[in-house]
Amino acid sequence: MTNHIDPVCDIQVEEKVAAGFSEHDGVTYYFHSEECLIKFYQHPEQYVDKSGKEKLNDAPQVMEPSEKKR
Ligand SMILES: [Zn+2]
Repeated sequence: MTNHIDPVCDIQVEEKVAAGFSEHDGVTYYFHSEECLIKFYQHPEQYVDKSGKEKLNDAPQVMEPSEKKR
């Protein structure tokens, strides 16, 4: 059985009964209804689970104040 999680409403969707699917960032997402598919299609970043992805730590590098050499 191939079950997928509909990222919009968070329910399990079987691949064969899915209303549609969409590929985002190399991952295929399945949807239980066309409505979910459209929602996802419009704002995929709102629904994809980013927790599993590598987060780029964009902390600014602290530059040491350049001391004037005497
Ligand atoms: Zn759905």
